[in-house]
Amino acid sequence: MERIPIFAANWKMNKTIKESAEFFKEFIYNISGIVDREIVIAPAFTCLQEIKAMLQKENSNISLCAQNMHFKDAGAFTGEISPVMLQEIGVKRVIIGHSERRHIFGEDNNFIALKVISAFNYGILPILCVGEKLEEREGNKTFKVIDEQLSKGLSEVKEDFLKDLVIAYEPVWAIGTGKTATPLQAQEVHEYIRNWFEKKYNLSLAKIVRILYGGSVTHDNIKFLMDCPDVDGVLVGGASLKNDLFTKIIKYDII
Ligand code: PEP
Repeated sequence: MERIPIFAANWKMNKTIKESAEFFKEFIYNISGIVDREIVIAPAFTCLQEIKAMLQKENSNISLCAQNMHFKDAGAFTGEISPVMLQEIGVKRVIIGHSERRHIFGEDNNFIALKVISAFNYGILPILCVGEKLEEREGNKTFKVIDEQLSKGLSEVKEDFLKDLVIAYEPVWAIGTGKTATPLQAQEVHEYIRNWFEKKYNLSLAKIVRILYGGSVTHDNIKFLMDCPDVDGVLVGGASLKNDLFTKIIKYDII
């Protein structure tokens, strides 16, 4: 089965509602007619509803994505957003376990695992981020870290759900640093992840699961990354904030 490539934008804590709406006015036009790849945008929570309305009005098939969520449906969790709230807006995907959540906000694999199960249970498809820190790569611990993030992060997920799972391999040392993994480094880890799914589950699942690369992706390096056999798309931070740059990334083989 063919793996449809995904081009995902993680806007992090950037863009107001007004700025997001301005971006979309032009962006929807820039990418109109593209049907062979999935375009995913993860704006700030405050923008989700407005953007959803815009996408519906324009009949756009861009997938709306949240950057995070709590695993509980409601309760005394000040400052958190629940899967029910995301479901109400009509969010298709959610980023879980981004390295900034792990390393700035202290989310561990067990907490992340609860979010992954919860997202699936509410019909929101998770993009589970994994990736090693620089010292872990230098200490030859990359595969050990990835194995632990996948084993724990997916520990309780029913196998039936996994065909809809997206993994984003994001080496922490490459996020927002301008240092991209070489295509060789990216492919090596992506292949490890695909083999992990084959060993743990089966070959047909391993062939379906989409694995994105993230970490300083630009229009200059996208082609080399997308040429890797196990890279099924990208998760883009900085370069997704600019309409023309993100469009160039999405259309890397068209224009
Ligand atoms: C990210 O935040 O997921 C990311 C990959 O950021 P950047 O593209 O800026 O490195």
